[in-house]
Amino acid sequence: MSRYISRFILLLSVILLYSCENLTKDSTQQVHSPEVPPNIVILFADDMGYGDTGAFGHPTIQTPNLDRMAYEGQKWTSFYVAASVCTPSRAGLLTGRLPIRSGMCSSRRRVLFPDSEGGLPASEITIAEMLKEQNYKTAAIGKWHLGHLKEYLPPNHGFDYYFGIPYSNDMDRVSNPDITYREGLLNPKTDYFNVPIIKNLEEIERPADQTTITKRYTDETIQFIEENKGNPFFVYLAYSLPHVPLFRSKEFEGHSKRGIYGDVIEEIDWSVGEIMSALEKNGLAENTLVVFTSDNGPWLTFETHAGSAGLLRDGKGSTYEGGMREPTMFYWKGKLKNGVVDGMGSTLDLLPTIASLTGSKLPSDRILDGVDLSETLLKGTESPRKSMIYYWGDELYAYRSGKYKAHFITHERVYRDGKKEFREVPALYDLETDPGEHFDIGEQNADIITKIREEVEKHKQTIDSVENQLVKRSED
Ligand code: MG
Repeated sequence: MSRYISRFILLLSVILLYSCENLTKDSTQQVHSPEVPPNIVILFADDMGYGDTGAFGHPTIQTPNLDRMAYEGQKWTSFYVAASVCTPSRAGLLTGRLPIRSGMCSSRRRVLFPDSEGGLPASEITIAEMLKEQNYKTAAIGKWHLGHLKEYLPPNHGFDYYFGIPYSNDMDRVSNPDITYREGLLNPKTDYFNVPIIKNLEEIERPADQTTITKRYTDETIQFIEENKGNPFFVYLAYSLPHVPLFRSKEFEGHSKRGIYGDVIEEIDWSVGEIMSALEKNGLAENTLVVFTSDNGPWLTFETHAGSAGLLRDGKGSTYEGGMREPTMFYWKGKLKNGVVDGMGSTLDLLPTIASLTGSKLPSDRILDGVDLSETLLKGTESPRKSMIYYWGDELYAYRSGKYKAHFITHERVYRDGKKEFREVPALYDLETDPGEHFDIGEQNADIITKIREEVEKHKQTIDSVENQLVKRSED
């Protein structure tokens, strides 16, 4: 009898051991091993609003490819950019540092212009430079806006290849006495804007034909992916649209019920679909992390030519949520814990997250403002980001700690008739119950404001004064 019992125990132990081993296997399968470094593709729209995709609630703009990224990957509903306008937002994404630390923001000149003499300092370490240490092939396609002089262009910031426009698509305006500034933006023609296309360090076209630009960015990206599929690669594709003036190719004219703005978004969605298919066709989908987001909220001054921040307040240029919370999707076939993440994330987090996923070394000689989101992406754990800082130029306007956001300075409708207001009692919102920032609870919650003020003071202690790149001009 005891022989049977010991056999039974032996059998039971074998079964247990086997299932334990499999359990361990299952749980480790989700953790990415940096021995096989993944490819990274960042897709970055310009001035696209929180509410401009199907997945984020737009009723008439059709975005099946972005929706698929959101539904089959991860949709992040509280994902922030580092600033509410182009230049500082891009500096934050590529360096993982608040633009105040690199001199890439200013309340006097909010972005770089064609007469600017500054740019992203060589001392900054971009995601591309970090990945070059791991032998990645790197490309920047699209709008740069981190300095148009040669020393600042992508090939001098860690990118092996560059194709795109050096600043916004409405710059270098050709003066025309027959047409007002606004009319030129609402009914644009390619030759109203003398914006160049630059390949690596050389100008190859001027003015850029903006009607074919999304298509050409897509072709360039796919070609780069196909040429470099034998290596790990990083593509930073920064679409120059839907920044006004709006352009789309012939095939997308009248494509959307949402008018020309919808056509432009649907062409970007098409582009995302083409890139995803190229990854699939080349057997790369299982080893490529794709991120989609926008650099700042919609440019509401242009009414139906601009996007929608959905349920969020205000848009581009604002430290209300509509200026800095962006529609964000992560996709990595078979790797991500599928679902909706409502914890905070930021473009500032991309550098440390990518470092973790690729086994890259983080810069250790400087302050980084990003946190590593890889556990949330791979396992669905709670996001490690617990606060967000909202700068307007070089001034701190607002601060989010957990679900509460305090505004110390407000300036709504900044490009229209809005007024800057210093708040003696900060406006306070609970963003979990009131994401639209409609109900100020500051008067009733002095203790929460005190706690947030302490966090702000701590942050301010970490800011050193650096040369400002946006106002750097020889006459200054
Ligand atoms: Mg922008």
